[in-house]
Amino acid sequence: MKRAFCYDWHSSHKFQLMQKIDLHSHSTISDGSYTPSELVSYAAGQGVTVMALTDHDDTGGLEEARQAAEVHGIRLINGVEISVSWKGRTIHIVGLNVDPAYPPMAAGLEAIRAGRLIRAEAMSVELEKVGIPGSLDGARQYAKERIISRTHFARFLVANGHAKDVKAVFKHFLVKGKPGYVSHNWAGMNEAIGWIRESGGIAVLAHPGRYDIGKTTLHALFADFKAAGGEAVEVVSGSHTPDQYKQFAEFARQYDLLASSGSDYHGPTHNYFDMGRLPPLPEVCKPVWERFGIE
Ligand SMILES: [Zn+2]
Ligand SMILES: [Zn+2]
Repeated sequence: MKRAFCYDWHSSHKFQLMQKIDLHSHSTISDGSYTPSELVSYAAGQGVTVMALTDHDDTGGLEEARQAAEVHGIRLINGVEISVSWKGRTIHIVGLNVDPAYPPMAAGLEAIRAGRLIRAEAMSVELEKVGIPGSLDGARQYAKERIISRTHFARFLVANGHAKDVKAVFKHFLVKGKPGYVSHNWAGMNEAIGWIRESGGIAVLAHPGRYDIGKTTLHALFADFKAAGGEAVEVVSGSHTPDQYKQFAEFARQYDLLASSGSDYHGPTHNYFDMGRLPPLPEVCKPVWERFGIE
C-alpha cells in the first residue's frame, strides 16, 4: 500500500507532514464544483492516494469516480454523507465503504432527495418574504444533478450581491433564526446508521465541531451516535481548528471511536481545506482506514 503521509514543500518552504488520505469530498452530484472524474483527477494531482467521495444523500457519482480512480491509480472508498435529524438539529453522518446498491439505503436516500426539493421550495418562499424573489430557479442553475441544497441557494445569493461569499451566507441566511431558514425532518440517526452498517459500511460522525452546540449536548450526540452503531468520528476535518483536532481526538478516545480525516472539499471557490493538505491525525487516534486494510 502507498504511504499515508508524504513530505511536501507546499507554500511554507518547510517540510510539512501531510495527510494523503482524504475521506470526505463532494462532486457536482451534490454541491461540489467538480464532476466526480474531475474531482478524482484533482485529488490525484494533490498527491492524495486514498479518497472517499461522500456526496450529500446521493451515491450517483461513485461509478464515475471509480473509473477515474483506476485511471489515476488512487484508491476510492465508496462514500455518502447522509443528513439526519437529531433532537431538532441537522447532523451529518458519513458512510464509508458502503454498498450503494443496498436497496434500503438506495430507497432511503431517494426519500431524502425528495424531501430536499420540498425544503427548497419552502426556502424560496421564505426568501421571497424578505424581498429576494426567484431563488428556487436561481439555485437550480447551480444544481447540476439530482440534489438541491442550501449551498446552491448560497451561490445564488452571492451572485446576486446579498452576501460576499458562501461562508457569509451561512451567517446571515438559511440558518436558524435567519431569513430563508426552513426546519426539515431528515432521516433518523438510527435509520441512517442502520443503512450504512447493513450495506457493509462504517458510520462516521461528520465534523462535530461545526454543529454549534454546547458541551452537554455534544456528549449526548456522541453517546447517541455510539449507541446507534456509529464507529468513527472526523477528528481532522477542513471544518475544524487545530484545537478541535485535539478536542475530538479526546472524544474519540473517550467513546472508543475510530478517527477519520477529510477535507470536506467542495471546489476551488469554497472556504474549505484543499485536498491533500490536512495535517495527520493526532498520535493517540486509531485511524478508521485500518479497517480498509490501509496503513
Ligand atoms: Zn457535512
Ligand atoms: Zn460534506
